[in-house]
Amino acid sequence: MNKGMLIVVSAPSGCGKDTVLAELFKINEGVAYSVSATSRAMREGEIDGVSYHFCTKEQFEKMIENNEVIEYTNYCGNYYGTLKATVNDLMEKGKDVILKIEVEGAMNVKKMYPDSVLIFILPPSMKELERRLRKRGTETEEVIAQRLSQARNELSCASKYDYFVVNGELSKAVEDLNTIILAQRMKRERNIQLLDEIIES
Ligand code: 5GP
Repeated sequence: MNKGMLIVVSAPSGCGKDTVLAELFKINEGVAYSVSATSRAMREGEIDGVSYHFCTKEQFEKMIENNEVIEYTNYCGNYYGTLKATVNDLMEKGKDVILKIEVEGAMNVKKMYPDSVLIFILPPSMKELERRLRKRGTETEEVIAQRLSQARNELSCASKYDYFVVNGELSKAVEDLNTIILAQRMKRERNIQLLDEIIES
């Protein structure tokens, strides 16, 4: 069995990456989501252990100290990090692991795992991104302004990613993301033993 690959998906807040990923999980059983840890407050509708492993700042700092996170960042005043045990476990099971992380974390993952695939989900326009952020209605005006400015910063790093997916029409974005993953699975480097098996058959 092939060890799974690491797939990093980043997008500014409000680009709809959660919805795109939820749809992807319905059509692609080979991928699994790595639940991150965070010290931010739980939002309505979120579930501990499913959306994130919610913890305190102190608990998060303890995990960093114990080397339990592959990467972490401080985003808008809160810690977010990828748990080593979760990723290793899923990869060993042959799953392609999806990390839904911001750009700084993505760059760190690429350094540590050069084979990882970095995918950036883009909004169709900045105007549409702002409209989606407001429609969500979970954030204050101050947070919306902070997230929009953060979005501009993040978009300026998108050129370092391997692929772009524009989330204009949801079904198209899901199909594009899935196509990238399927193509990556078929890469020569990941299937070199297949050639030998076929030659010897
Ligand atoms: P939110 O608060 O909207 O759930 O997430 C804020 C940002 O943190 C998003 O860009 C999200 O992708 C990112 N994020 C979530 N988990 C992790 C993580 O484990 N590591 C890093 N570096 N970023 C994360």
